[in-house]
Amino acid sequence: MQIIDGKSLAQEIQESVAQEVKNLKDNYDIVPGLAVILVGDDPASQAYVKMKAKACEKVGFYSITHNMPDTISQEEIIGTIEMINKNPRIDGILVQLPLPKHIDTNAILEVIDPAKDVDGFHPYNVGRLVTNLDGFVPCTPLGVMKMFEKYNIDLEGKDVCVVGASNIVGKPMAALLLNANATVTVTHIYTKDLASHTKKADIVIVGVGVPHLIKADMVKDGAVLIDIGINRIEDGSLVGDADFEALKQKCSYITPVPGGVGPMTIAMLLSNTLKAAKARISK
Ligand code: NAD
Repeated sequence: MQIIDGKSLAQEIQESVAQEVKNLKDNYDIVPGLAVILVGDDPASQAYVKMKAKACEKVGFYSITHNMPDTISQEEIIGTIEMINKNPRIDGILVQLPLPKHIDTNAILEVIDPAKDVDGFHPYNVGRLVTNLDGFVPCTPLGVMKMFEKYNIDLEGKDVCVVGASNIVGKPMAALLLNANATVTVTHIYTKDLASHTKKADIVIVGVGVPHLIKADMVKDGAVLIDIGINRIEDGSLVGDADFEALKQKCSYITPVPGGVGPMTIAMLLSNTLKAAKARISK
């Protein structure tokens, strides 16, 4: 069994981003800029935004956070995004999800300029992903693909079971896997017999938000297990969606929580923002 070390891979990627930022600044006087919109005072969202801002600072990005109260109107958020779309110092825009219930998330995401959509949630980029064209790919599934690449885990012809089918995790994950010629099964809350699907898979990727949903008897010997879930349990610790302790002897590769997919998500945000900034060179 090998543990996939997302923390050190993310560190490696951040160092290479920092080097490229230096080159951009020295050769083109470009400093990549990221704007984050945070609505409300959800502690988890605040913590994520803080981590993202810190990572931006570390690699030499310019970053700003727009903090908005949860009573803000949809029109005001849209107005702010339209303003940032026009700001030449900003290459990437990220709206921290989830948004308060009175806000239509899809309407907000559609206002982001697709060229600044570093989270890859705009329907334009979703369409490009599904048709296997270059664009911005959502950070979490992109981070998982980087892990496969780093650990030489071949996807062609493999049976992969994706557990969870959200727009930000499961669906883009499935599209990336299809583009890599895997045979993909997507499961979700309405799936009748989850274990019958996970047991057949060479690779199981879970992102649902249910602690320890995937148990040892639900995967075959030697399977690869990627755990995207992040759950804070009663004792205050963070756990994934898979029973790591029981699964680690059975799997050929497994990601821990924390220290697995989480750090890769932030590294991919930096890498997507750098990609958006590089587009300024040809302008
Ligand atoms: P979501 O609530 O939008 O979607 C959850 C998905 O899981 C849905 O498709 C639902 O049908 C499915 N599901 C729920 N319960 C299930 C069950 N018992 N069996 C099978 N499927 C089930 O959540 P999300 O935003 O996609 O996030 C999922 C998890 O991934 C959360 O724990 C979240 O914290 C984590 N996450 C981690 C990162 C990271 O960087 N590692 C990034 C995003 C989300």
